[in-house]
Amino acid sequence: MGSDLPRLEDFERIVFFTGAGLSAESGIPTYRGSGGLWAQYDYEDFACQRAFDRDPAKVWTFHDERREAVAACEPNLAHRIIAKIQREKTATRIVTQNIDGMHQRAGAVDVIELHGSLWRVRCDACGAEKEDLGLPLLPKRCKCGAWWRPAIVWFEDPLNFDVVEAAVRAIEACDCLVGIGTSGEVYPAAELPLIAMRAGAVTLEINPEETPLSPLYTHVLRGPATEMMALLAG
Ligand code: NAD
Repeated sequence: MGSDLPRLEDFERIVFFTGAGLSAESGIPTYRGSGGLWAQYDYEDFACQRAFDRDPAKVWTFHDERREAVAACEPNLAHRIIAKIQREKTATRIVTQNIDGMHQRAGAVDVIELHGSLWRVRCDACGAEKEDLGLPLLPKRCKCGAWWRPAIVWFEDPLNFDVVEAAVRAIEACDCLVGIGTSGEVYPAAELPLIAMRAGAVTLEINPEETPLSPLYTHVLRGPATEMMALLAG
């Protein structure tokens, strides 16, 4: 970090690759570390298809609590700076592992959501999918009679092929990738920045902590997302 820091205004095809740490300062807990969600809950009871098949109502109660908590939070300065950059440089793409919808609430568009969204539901029986903003609570059963399921990539689920393909295309084409608040431990998403690194793009990591990918980034900004994005955006 320092005077050799690249200026985002010098790039035309920026990709922001974001994870739970981006929303931490909005008050949404990350998954890893103390206070993380999976330190309190066993994902096998709440966040996998097997749990849903066993007890859909219990899994929905858990997800409605998550929606309520996220709805009470606001996008932070880093979300807003990213959205502003995208308005000014329309080739900017956002690839997120987050499911909280904060990028969109800050004004970003065409967000590639690798792990789905808390705010969409799908019916695996008839293939229907719809936005469900959570409040008021909508019926949890589809017109076909089956349960709606949160359109989230749960533990043990595969990623959606079309979404991954869109992310890969955006990252292959970027001249700068900014990775923010991601531990680099959740695969296959963690591998995506490597595409930009191999292609020779300028790559920046924003994270208060070292991650397995830190040594591979061309620049590392050690600090919280809001402060580091404000610094980077100048
Ligand atoms: P993670 O929980 O594995 O790691 C979070 C990372 O953010 C850590 O490396 C941590 O050092 C960093 N961090 C913490 N505070 C930060 C801050 N203020 N600024 C910048 N970085 C900060 O998150 P992940 O890599 O995204 O993987 C976890 C999976 O769970 C992903 O799919 C993730 O999106 C999902 N998840 C989503 C949300 C959400 O939608 N907000 C919340 C928790 C987990």
